[in-house]
Amino acid sequence: MPDGARNLQKYETYIDGKWTAARSGKTFETYNPYTGEAWALIPDCAKEEVDLAVEAAARAFESGPWSKMTATARGKALRRIAGLIERHAEHLAQIEVRDNGKLISEMLAQTKYMPEWYYYYGGIADKIHGQVVSVDRPEHFTYILKEPVGVCGFITPWNSPLMLATWKLAPALAAGCTAVIKPSEYTSASLLEFMRLVIAEADLPPGVVNVVTGTGVNAGEPLVTHPKVAKIAFTGGTLTGARVSELAAKSFKKVSLELGGKSPNIVFDDCNLEDAVSGAISGIFAATGQTCIAGSRLLVQETIHDVFVEKLVAMARQARLGDPSKFETQVGPVTTPPQYKKILSYIDIAKGEGANCVLGGGPAGKEEGGGTYFVKPTIFTGVDNKMRIAQEEVFGPVLSVIKFKDEEEAVRIANDIAYGLGAGIWTQSVKRAHGVAARIRAGTVWVNTYRAVSFLMPFGGYKASGLGRENGAEAIESYLQSKSVWINNGPGGGNPFVMKTSG
Ligand code: NAD
Repeated sequence: MPDGARNLQKYETYIDGKWTAARSGKTFETYNPYTGEAWALIPDCAKEEVDLAVEAAARAFESGPWSKMTATARGKALRRIAGLIERHAEHLAQIEVRDNGKLISEMLAQTKYMPEWYYYYGGIADKIHGQVVSVDRPEHFTYILKEPVGVCGFITPWNSPLMLATWKLAPALAAGCTAVIKPSEYTSASLLEFMRLVIAEADLPPGVVNVVTGTGVNAGEPLVTHPKVAKIAFTGGTLTGARVSELAAKSFKKVSLELGGKSPNIVFDDCNLEDAVSGAISGIFAATGQTCIAGSRLLVQETIHDVFVEKLVAMARQARLGDPSKFETQVGPVTTPPQYKKILSYIDIAKGEGANCVLGGGPAGKEEGGGTYFVKPTIFTGVDNKMRIAQEEVFGPVLSVIKFKDEEEAVRIANDIAYGLGAGIWTQSVKRAHGVAARIRAGTVWVNTYRAVSFLMPFGGYKASGLGRENGAEAIESYLQSKSVWINNGPGGGNPFVMKTSG
């Protein structure tokens, strides 16, 4: 519904299978980062809506039709979701671009790939088996049941809203859980479109998937602290993750955290130079550097450092800035005004620390294809791994190039960081590839490629990059819990004051 003269699209949120405004009547504007203009109004929800959503999810989990549905029927529901995403992939990608400013080529690749998660976990739904265990008491029949944990709260960031919600929702639904999702206040629209076009049409019982839009403090915290939420799956910044984890601990929730990164992309002198240059570019300038797995520390062996940097700068200089809704654009705007300021402040910090700016180093104006929230692709050389520009996550198109002498030093620098999300290795030596991959403390290591993800491969962080894994068969475990059942087929009795052991 348009908003008067400004013609803003007015969204409602989706709770218990119904569309609703915030009880307060409040909304907030969401912006197109390319034009800098507001284009839609999002309900500004708070505790009241969180309570309604969690109660709906709890009813659906405990007594609604979802709780009685067979695992096979749940699997079919996930496949219906997949089919609906396939039908609407293009529209969903366009909304993502309008709301978060990422490239249409990237967002379309994501929305077209998203159905695979629902097909994959839909297939797993009725293959979740418990286990019969032969314990050391022959008179007992003992088995383990795998049960869904319950209502899950999902909190997502602004950089890939639908993809990151999918990584949580697909395994959770397959396990039999229900969900309340709180998207980023900067990019809520695509999830609301997803609810309208996909979830509301997938014939799911009411309350199985709910959305509460709003800020982290007003809507996120009540979700994290709600007593009926059994698990929180959070993706976002490391500091926010620590706060979420602390709050969730008070009610003993299960928590998984996908947090920030400062990933090393390591170029050895035996690499294929052209591939490595392209990999370094994709590591930092794809998605305007706004990706948790950005290869923002480029470690280059000193023997090829100068020639590598020359090629890198030449290629990065060619990057086409512009309208993210156009397929030919390679670098789009920064998504949020605070993030834009943060990136520029890190460029100043790097200059102040004595790093050598060999490309970019500031805002990109209209004449360069940029606009309100554009930052030039920026490369710093002469970076020492102790500098803040090497240690802190910028989350923008800013690359730190660090020289190393040999393999030993490369591994030491790569691991000398609080984070451990991803790493890249560029080498033609199989021995070196396996050896270095084994020594890097990160959840994902790519060799001669970068930024590859799949529904089949676990994803997550070591150290301050997070807890737990999303994707792959193991992700379903974080939405399940084990129940041990003991059936005594033998005589009763025995000493009631002594624990029943076999000893
Ligand atoms: P953010 O931490 O500011 O916000 C993430 C989400 O948390 C938002 O929905 C926000 O509203 C909510 N939130 C904020 N404060 C909260 C609180 N006190 N309680 C509950 N919820 C709260 O992150 P962002 O700026 O939206 O996203 C960028 C960050 O996300 C980067 O650090 C990036 O590395 C990280 N990220 C990680 C992954 C991963 O898979 N590891 C993927 C994408 C992004």
